[in-house]
Amino acid sequence: MSGLLFERHSLNEASWLPDLGEPEEKTLALLPKDVLRQKGPELPSLSELDVVRHFTRLSQKNFCVDVNFYPLGSCTMKYNPKALDAIAAIDSFSLIHPYQEEEDAQGALKVLYEMQSFLSEITGMDDFTLEPAAGAHGELCGLLMIGAYHRSKKQKRTKVLIPDSAHGTNPASAALCGYEVAQIRTDAKGHVDVADLKSKLDGSVACLMMTNPNTLGLFEEEILGIARSAHEAGALVYYDGANMNALLGICRPGDMGFDVVHLNLHKTFAVPHGSGGPGSGPVGVKKELVPFLPSPRLVKKGDGYRWEKNLPCSIGKLRAYYGNFGAIIRSYGYIKALGGEGLRAAAEHAILNANYLKARLKDSFEVPYDGLCMHEFVMSAARQKKKGVRAIDIAKRLLDFGIHAPTVYFPLIVEEAMMIEPTETESKETLDEFVRALEAIDREIEEDPEKVLGAPHTTPVSRIDEVTAARQPNLRYRPEGKAGAGL
Ligand SMILES: *Cc1c(COP(=O)(O)O)cnc(C)c1O
Repeated sequence: MSGLLFERHSLNEASWLPDLGEPEEKTLALLPKDVLRQKGPELPSLSELDVVRHFTRLSQKNFCVDVNFYPLGSCTMKYNPKALDAIAAIDSFSLIHPYQEEEDAQGALKVLYEMQSFLSEITGMDDFTLEPAAGAHGELCGLLMIGAYHRSKKQKRTKVLIPDSAHGTNPASAALCGYEVAQIRTDAKGHVDVADLKSKLDGSVACLMMTNPNTLGLFEEEILGIARSAHEAGALVYYDGANMNALLGICRPGDMGFDVVHLNLHKTFAVPHGSGGPGSGPVGVKKELVPFLPSPRLVKKGDGYRWEKNLPCSIGKLRAYYGNFGAIIRSYGYIKALGGEGLRAAAEHAILNANYLKARLKDSFEVPYDGLCMHEFVMSAARQKKKGVRAIDIAKRLLDFGIHAPTVYFPLIVEEAMMIEPTETESKETLDEFVRALEAIDREIEEDPEKVLGAPHTTPVSRIDEVTAARQPNLRYRPEGKAGAGL
């Protein structure tokens, strides 16, 4: 059974479509005549059961964290409790409009206001904006504020320093803001090379962008000294908070000397993501940067909350309305449910799970930067590559075991990198199943490499040409049996 609902049209009378009846005269009168339909839409007529089967079947062609283990490093694919979806769906949240009068939306504004203070407390910052739509958008927001800050001090600073292990969005955001990017080397232990950093810190540096723990999953132990050196050179320090799941309730970027942080609510704070789901990238700042926060600002006046729009130093508006409210509500519920101790326990279990997997896998795979890791670690398929099988092949073969692939080829400094982030929500049994799958694939590389090279064998589509798919996407559906049938 496959095809579009339109192809599966039947004469089944028990249509899934509700009978909407004829529109009312007064509704029709509101619409211009030339946009009115002359005849009814040709929608397929199917029974409810046919429709349920159709969408269930489609959903099974995709992979999601509700199906099985999803150890996609740096993406924090933790289980997102369904209770949070239910909270976000309640009428008083889901039926309000951003243009509603402030007086009528005080409850929602209170949630946003409290969320700003929760995030400030968790990260050690002085204030937050909830406006940015995702991590990369938060980086843009932070760098625009950093630029505005230096301009307010009549300083022309043109450079952003970024470690070579950084996520690609860091240099992209810096370039988007017109900065020149200078790369900082990683030392033999997988940390920022402090000597290299110091040699590049001068009066032209606007900011240093760092991820801590870094993308190798290692905590930057020299962070206090690094932040001090950057500040002495007049630069600000930006925290890419995508890895905040490792630090929740344990330590805070604000206490490490960071001036600006972004968080990814869709990673750390239990908002469903992947497959392009909506994100949220709140940005926190220390008090010197508060005047530059995006507009409008949510302020508390007496017992009420309102939007302040008269903000002469603000970088302006970054997004329509006030942020991704549906995501923020979920994260707010998550923080409230876990509390400080619960958040800390989440981070500790994430770290424990990652270290357990690293210990179990390090005989089969090289782990170039060994030592205690935080919430994720990076191993290498360099040994397997010598036998003709690469990280991408192993990643694809994992799909046949019903497990999502880890992040591969990132960070760029590790050959055949496989970046594994189990998160705190996985059981030991699931982690053991993952280890068994990888060990089985490692044996296949010896005994039947073609099986790995040709993988995946069980997914709706096997290997796609990823470059062509990105450059010349062919999204047209053709009915079953004809060339190019995708579904
Ligand atoms: C995911 C991620 C980002 C970008 O965040 P988006 O929400 O995907 O825009 C930036 N840095 C790191 C380290 C990340 O893992």
